[in-house]
Amino acid sequence: MERTLSIIKPDGVARGLTGEVIKRFESNNIKIIAMKMISMNLAQAEGFYAVHKKRPFFSSLTEFMSSGPCVTMVLEGENVIAKNRELMGATDYREAKEGTIRRDFATDIEKNIVHGSDSPESASFETGYFFNSFEIVG
Ligand code: ATP
Ligand code: MG
Repeated sequence: MERTLSIIKPDGVARGLTGEVIKRFESNNIKIIAMKMISMNLAQAEGFYAVHKKRPFFSSLTEFMSSGPCVTMVLEGENVIAKNRELMGATDYREAKEGTIRRDFATDIEKNIVHGSDSPESASFETGYFFNSFEIVG
């Protein structure tokens, strides 16, 4: 069993897509074992995306991620890191496959509705960034 961190980004929450994203996880046999709504300040968003510090889009991305509430979840299942990224679709929604969350709803390469951990190492760091052990069920 694997775990991964999912975030419904500020655009997804503001556009009322929280239920839609959760439905996609549940209907694809992905178990939600922790969930909460958070509102990051800039420093917290910078800490979360520290791996992207040198990228040209870092300041825009961290401003966006701290612009409003996000819903963050820990997902559990077999191969759930890859499975979640498959459901999300490519970073750039124009390259994402039909039927993926980003293809269906994203409007922008940055404002792309969801985040998902990309490796066991990032899943472990990112899960611990938002949740302590008492908040994770299972
Ligand atoms: P995420 O980490 O959010 O799940 P990802 O792994 O598909 O997305 P990354 O390369 O890790 O993509 O980029 C992190 C986030 O930074 C993207 O989801 C997007 O919001 C933003 N981003 C990535 N590339 C660009 C870009 N070229 N211009 C603007 N924003 C970008
Ligand atoms: Mg990433």
